[in-house]
Amino acid sequence: MASNKKNPSAIVIGAGMTGIQMVVKLKQAGINDVTLLEKKDKVGGTWRENTYPGVACDVPAHAYTYSFAPNPEWSGMFAPGAEIQQYFEKVFYDQGVDKHTRFNEGVVSSVYNDGQWTVTTTQGNTLVCDLLFAATGMLHKPVTPEFKGMSRFNGDVMHSAEWKQDVNLQGKKIGVIGTGSSAAQLIPELINRNDSEVTVFQRTPQYLVKVDNKKYTEKQKDKFRNSPKAMQRAKELALMVFEKGTTALTSEKWFDRQMHKLMAWNARHYLKTAVKDPELRAKLTPDYKFGCKRVVMNASFYPAIQKANATLITDGIDTFEETGIRTQDGTLHELDVIVCATGFDPVAYMRPMDFKGRDGVDINDVWATKVQAYRSMMIPQFPNFFLLLGPNSPIGNYSVIAMSEKQADYALEIVSAWRQEQIETIEAKPEALKSWNQELRQKMGRTVWASGCNSWYLDADGDPLTWPDTWKAWLAAMEKPVFTDFYTSEPITAQKLVEGEIEEMA
Ligand code: NAP
Repeated sequence: MASNKKNPSAIVIGAGMTGIQMVVKLKQAGINDVTLLEKKDKVGGTWRENTYPGVACDVPAHAYTYSFAPNPEWSGMFAPGAEIQQYFEKVFYDQGVDKHTRFNEGVVSSVYNDGQWTVTTTQGNTLVCDLLFAATGMLHKPVTPEFKGMSRFNGDVMHSAEWKQDVNLQGKKIGVIGTGSSAAQLIPELINRNDSEVTVFQRTPQYLVKVDNKKYTEKQKDKFRNSPKAMQRAKELALMVFEKGTTALTSEKWFDRQMHKLMAWNARHYLKTAVKDPELRAKLTPDYKFGCKRVVMNASFYPAIQKANATLITDGIDTFEETGIRTQDGTLHELDVIVCATGFDPVAYMRPMDFKGRDGVDINDVWATKVQAYRSMMIPQFPNFFLLLGPNSPIGNYSVIAMSEKQADYALEIVSAWRQEQIETIEAKPEALKSWNQELRQKMGRTVWASGCNSWYLDADGDPLTWPDTWKAWLAAMEKPVFTDFYTSEPITAQKLVEGEIEEMA
């Protein structure tokens, strides 16, 4: 049994965007015994980790802002990574989240037993709580592919999310592998230094949507400072535009299909007008549907890749050698530094933590064939636990902050019902997960993400890890918990049977 339902204790793992707001909302819900565990010495998550040149958020800044902490100071329509990092640090202190936080304390294991979670940390500490929240992020584990001969390369190799600030790039031959959202931001920065040669290894071309990053004038910022309504309108407008865009990727309605065609045309038109050389343009032309892979919002990649110090290679990578990369056509591309902008493991979630639920069930066994969670957040046999931004959370390019806040509100509604004894444990029944997944699967086929391309949006079975519907449908799914999907009494476990508690319970 939980120790204290009226006044429960909570642990939140990870002080990134999601963890910070989860602590704020727990406090707002009157839960004050909250500990935020952060493995590093700073908040910020993805924005602390990603420090590559040009790192920025391609979702408009006012839409990438907490509802409870609007920010009139954003420098422009899209904010650079360092500014977003500053914003999270400010909110962290302004909202008093710092008082709940233990830095340099990663979670090694979380084990559920008899109503409580026992969490052990890298500092060797053991903490016990009633409620556990993993705010560990979707894309926190960088993936560097195992290229043949990799260890032979004499130069520096770094992942975009593990940028080595001390590597001297001046006058160097730099190779970049990948052309996703991170690469599209960092490649122009490297090329535009004009003091190095940049070779880009592209496996699949991307659709680019041109977005101009207009800087806000002091007058505009003043307007935001003096009129919260004006700032809210800027946020709502940005969210509406992004919502229309994502709806067009998931909906079969006539209007949305036309919208999808228009967006695809716009991206192709941008390529046609921005890249003059037909040979280069052909290399940059995608052969899959617009939006199947995450759309890259960017205005600097096409101009940069046409510069004299840039080369786009589309032959596959064969092997790394001492002095560079040899492609499958036999050419050796001489390099001093190699950047792998090769993405992340999208299903690492709270792992590699040792994570065990009821009866010692291991998450790696539960997820051995399929990574899934009821309403993206709850896993049968892992009671009183919420995985924030779990499977089927992201919606294309839509603001993940808006989504994360809605999840936190939904989680707290369930917590409230649990505190009022409406449900015994916060644990969805396996059949609830099954029918949730069936529902998702029915929707999945009609999304553009399942239309035939290779992307991190898809799992090993080709099922989207994204939310396969519109933002409005997401809001509806998160509107009211369906309590019949939860246990109203604690499930009888094998452990309890062994302990002979079954007679007592009967
Ligand atoms: P990504 O979108 O997964 O792109 C990885 C790139 O590396 C792709 O071009 C991929 O090619 C290539 N690649 C991977 N393995 C390869 C291999 N073995 N050989 C050759 N090429 C290989 O990763 P990302 O750019 O880091 O972005 C990941 C996600 O982070 C984004 O989708 C987005 O959600 C988020 N992000 C957001 C922003 C923002 O502004 N909001 C910025 C950066 C990242 P293929 O396409 O052929 O697989």
